[in-house]
Amino acid sequence: MRRISIALITLALMVSFAPFQTVRKTHALVKAEDDFQLVKVAEGVYAAIAKPGGLASGNAGFVAGDHGVLIVDTFFTPIAVEELISEIGKLTPQPIRYAVNTHYHLDHTGGNQVLAARGVPIIAHDNVAKWQTTKNRRFLPAPEELQKRRAEVARQLAETPADQPDKRAQFERQLRSIDARLTIKLTNPNVTFSSGTVHLYLGKRDFILFTLPGHTGGDVLVYVPDANVVFMGDMGWSKTLPNLVDATVNDWITSLDKILADYPTAKFIPGHGEVATAVEMRDFRDYLVDLRARVKQGIADGLTIDQAKQQLILPEKYKSFAFQNFAQPNVEDMYKELKGTKQMN
Ligand SMILES: [Zn+2]
Repeated sequence: MRRISIALITLALMVSFAPFQTVRKTHALVKAEDDFQLVKVAEGVYAAIAKPGGLASGNAGFVAGDHGVLIVDTFFTPIAVEELISEIGKLTPQPIRYAVNTHYHLDHTGGNQVLAARGVPIIAHDNVAKWQTTKNRRFLPAPEELQKRRAEVARQLAETPADQPDKRAQFERQLRSIDARLTIKLTNPNVTFSSGTVHLYLGKRDFILFTLPGHTGGDVLVYVPDANVVFMGDMGWSKTLPNLVDATVNDWITSLDKILADYPTAKFIPGHGEVATAVEMRDFRDYLVDLRARVKQGIADGLTIDQAKQQLILPEKYKSFAFQNFAQPNVEDMYKELKGTKQMN
């Protein structure tokens, strides 16, 4: 229960603390730039970097071939992916041909229904089809619960006078987020695989999809050879502490070593954080190695899990990373992994 509430709180934090935003009911004023920033990584290759507090929550991206577009990840909410589709339409007249889910977590699959409704095939690891509509429920409160929260926030907004615009804006952002979550219908991918590679061709451009263990046991990465870009999904976090709730850190370190060896000069689009190079991916790998070493030592010193969480302080070099609230849960998850007591389902 504790771990579930950490995940929920984190998601809630990710979607509630934003700079000024406009409530969803004033549709005309809500723009994609409230939710993500498009970054051109190479010709026709774009990262959509999630903004704190917006409706995207995780990064996504897309690649235009010469007769179609591939989307990687569908953000946290249908609204955010609709905004992405609208931005794609401004950059290319080509149709969206494929979508990929890098893993099942809701901040990367919450907009699936929008692609499914357009008849776009959604490709993912076999395990996404297993977990998308089951394990994801921990990230999505039931509608009744969301309605209850909505009523409470609406009441607080109504009681906040007009001369407190900052406070009102905060409540309006929360309403916007709750309204967006109420529209999510957990939707499965419809093309899945669990080993080897999948090649997709969009005219002159092609893509290599492959899977590596570590983050959830159901992650797919997308390599764009001609542009030398890797969409990491949450196998890569750039200057951001990771969510280890489903992770096997031992495997993850090996996977990152392989990626760094195979793509030393690539640009990396991470699941969270800014577009990166091998430098940031190596920093992230080193964070996992440090975490494993610290917790291993803590266990050898006889620390209990609670003592480990209190005493194993985050090294200085990671204190500037985003998502500092993951520091203690990371110790807990690592401790359980090393002890063999981690519940993976
Ligand atoms: Zn994520």
